Amino acid sequence: MQQTAQETVREPAESPPATGDTAPAPPPIDEHGVVTAIATVVNLSPQARMLAENLKCVCGCGMRLGRCSCEKDPGGVSMKRHLQSLFDKGLTPDQVRAEMVKAYGTDVLP
Ligand SMILES: [Zn+2]
Repeated sequence: MQQTAQETVREPAESPPATGDTAPAPPPIDEHGVVTAIATVVNLSPQARMLAENLKCVCGCGMRLGRCSCEKDPGGVSMKRHLQSLFDKGLTPDQVRAEMVKAYGTDVLP
């Protein structure tokens, strides 16, 4: 005498359909939170961006640092990288401004 299965095997048809609201994975970001693949665009913090608007670029363009994105050295990109690295160290805007003058001379002052 054979035992019948007490429960009939259900087909797995009751799984809900995919709702499609799964968010795509964010792009990989390195440990400093900076997307390193971008070479010419410097991600400035709000503080750094504000200070960049109050400093001059020394590449010869005569523009505010915040407006220049040339890749001369020194130029908009390298100066903004330095600017952001100073903020990353925890310096205040006044200290960062002083460090920028040390690094690039008083030409950075408007
Ligand atoms: Zn410039």
